[in-house]
Amino acid sequence: ATPTALLVGTGRGAQLGVLIKGPEVLESTRRVDTVVLDKTGTVTTGRMELVDTHVADGEDPDEALRMAGAVEDGSEHPIARAIADAARAADGAGLPGVSEFEAVHGLGVRGVVSELVDNRVVAHAVLVGRPALLANHDIELPASLIEAREKAENAGHTAVVVAWDGHARAVLTVADGIKPTSADAIRRLRALGLRPMLLTGDNGAAARTVAERVGIDPDDVIADVMPEDKVAVVTRLQGEGKVVAMIGDGVNDAAALATADLSLAMGTGTDVAIEASDLTLVRGDLLAAVDAVRLARRTLSTIR
Ligand code: ADP
Ligand code: MG
Repeated sequence: ATPTALLVGTGRGAQLGVLIKGPEVLESTRRVDTVVLDKTGTVTTGRMELVDTHVADGEDPDEALRMAGAVEDGSEHPIARAIADAARAADGAGLPGVSEFEAVHGLGVRGVVSELVDNRVVAHAVLVGRPALLANHDIELPASLIEAREKAENAGHTAVVVAWDGHARAVLTVADGIKPTSADAIRRLRALGLRPMLLTGDNGAAARTVAERVGIDPDDVIADVMPEDKVAVVTRLQGEGKVVAMIGDGVNDAAALATADLSLAMGTGTDVAIEASDLTLVRGDLLAAVDAVRLARRTLSTIR
């Protein structure tokens, strides 16, 4: 039988904005010593905005944004929303049609964009994402785009490359803000004896900038991680004897969430992440994770 205190504990959680899958979850919550945080959408708002468009020689920035926006319109990723929204705002004519859309997990998107030029339909095979996505299609980056990307990333932003018909054409830079409660929540997790770590598919420079702002040790930043490798990071920590909580919001976090000893999803995130998790932070606020840990400790100490 479930002790009454545990049931009361889960009920109290709901009042605090934490949905708890079952009373037994409180036990794993109590034992956690390491908290792995996804960056985009978890520590940051994930509401990104396009802040810069840099084109290769001879390319047209409006065309680059239109091509990228058309394909990104098919994706739910925060980067995609920023680019599609900016493209729609820039071009009153609406975005061109896309066929063969594909989201390439952790790398970007691809699709075929069709436009009417002089009454003829012209189709372009478009890619938007990390340089690795372009490399998979044997597309190289010109020096000017490599430079633009590095500059954006060193400023803590996220930069993706746009290519079509076999050539890299532009770098689009997007930026998002850190949630107002993230730094406070991370400080409180540390005060509870937990070690916060940042895990992201984004680039190292952007990740370290965010880490510094929220008080995560630079040695505890793991960046440039493919979704399947997020699982490997959790497994490695567990192999070192750590009891790991993972907090995430994205489709790309679901496997790592399922692997962690305790999983917390942002209620503002994807259904896949929420379904994979033991706890849901309803308002997408990391302070609720602090409440959950304190609640678990309190509830279980009344039983023992
Ligand atoms: P995070 O772990 O921070 O949530 P993701 O694993 O979702 O990041 O994405 C990792 C990287 O893959 C992004 O920083 C971006 O470079 C690229 N990427 C993923 N999805 C897209 C997309 N829809 N458009 C462009 N780039 C993308
Ligand atoms: Mg995320």
